[in-house]
Amino acid sequence: MKFLLTKELGRLAKWLRILGYDTLYFNQDNLSSLIIQALRDNRIILTRNHRLPQSRGVKILLIKAERIKEQMSEFLKTQKLEPDSGKMFSRCIICNEELVGIDKEKVKDKVPEYVFKTQEDFVTCPKCKRIYWRGTHWGNVEQTLKEVI
Ligand SMILES: [Zn+2]
Repeated sequence: MKFLLTKELGRLAKWLRILGYDTLYFNQDNLSSLIIQALRDNRIILTRNHRLPQSRGVKILLIKAERIKEQMSEFLKTQKLEPDSGKMFSRCIICNEELVGIDKEKVKDKVPEYVFKTQEDFVTCPKCKRIYWRGTHWGNVEQTLKEVI
């Protein structure tokens, strides 16, 4: 299942990526190219825009909640999805690319010293080269998810 979020849902887009869902963020006003992209990639559109034109074959999920946690729970409920901890942090939060493992030695000069000393597993984004490790926001994410589910 793949998603395309309109521009007022930027925070939700980041969260869906944290959860591992293939999520694109559409930050333009051109609604017809939004529809075209959804059709081409077979993506479900998530939006708060009531005036989005209905188009054959396009699935649109209108998000009613205003707060991010309520938006997440609305999304998970309507899509009947349960976050899978094995998929979390598998995508770049910025680019949506799938993260790949990287040797610890290769990140030595790219992460803070204490991180290098305390973490063993690192992953990187093939596109933007950002480096992620489990410790980053793991605790916060688990806490937020508990509140959401
Ligand atoms: Zn990236």
